[in-house]
Amino acid sequence: MTRDPSSPGSAGRLPGMRRLRSVAAVLVLTLGLGPMLVSCETAPISGRSQLILLSPSDEMKLGLQAYQEILKKERLSTDPVQTALLARVGARIAAATGRTDFQWEFKLIDNDKMVNAFALPGGKVAVYTGILPITRDEAGLAAVIGHEVAHATARHGAERMSQGLLVQAGLAAGAIAAGASGRDSASTQALLGALGAGATLGVILPFSRLQETEADRLGMTYMARAGYDPRAARDLWVRMAETSAKMGRSTPEWMSTHPSNASRIRDIEAMLPEALAIYKPR
Ligand SMILES: [Zn+2]
Repeated sequence: MTRDPSSPGSAGRLPGMRRLRSVAAVLVLTLGLGPMLVSCETAPISGRSQLILLSPSDEMKLGLQAYQEILKKERLSTDPVQTALLARVGARIAAATGRTDFQWEFKLIDNDKMVNAFALPGGKVAVYTGILPITRDEAGLAAVIGHEVAHATARHGAERMSQGLLVQAGLAAGAIAAGASGRDSASTQALLGALGAGATLGVILPFSRLQETEADRLGMTYMARAGYDPRAARDLWVRMAETSAKMGRSTPEWMSTHPSNASRIRDIEAMLPEALAIYKPR
């Protein structure tokens, strides 16, 4: 697909393009984010077509800035065993993505009350210690990281910002890219919500069902390539659902932004043979 905005690609004939183009125009005019192109991208593995208004370099810049904003407010874990575990799982999943252009970082945030993890564009990943009792072991952690990293490599955050529903997030993206300090503002929250890290600020913006299924499939592929048994992904979601049921109304943050239901676990079961076919235990 072309990245040249002057060339009429097939994307131009899709419904909703008029609205997307006008959103793009507003963003370009308002934000000066550099050349923001309406491009037709293809998600890895699933091959699904995506309409994305942000360039990969702007998206990575936003990911880095959002990461720094979040880390400023958090305390990192000093637990040597857990930190080493995250570093090991992170390095293996990162290698499995083949994305050497990402500047991978994996930080463990010391917060036992926060059941959460996220990956931002460009490979900036954070895991909260509160999720570790549910991930339980190395393969369980690999399932969470594989899933989160898949949202980043499949550009789901940029896709959400490009869907016209999230103009506010797009505006926040521009403010942050332009260097304006928007910390704690509604716009920064909207941006973090679009990128998948909104739960850190109490903004719950679930990924779409399509994006979730794609992240499950891609995440299990990364796990398998990295030498982790992809069946651990199914077991993780079962434990998440159990925890959620136990917690009642206070659903874990991660479950709020990555909604689960019985059909997710069924879909994961159906996708397992594909991942198991490439799984080689280490
Ligand atoms: Zn997800």
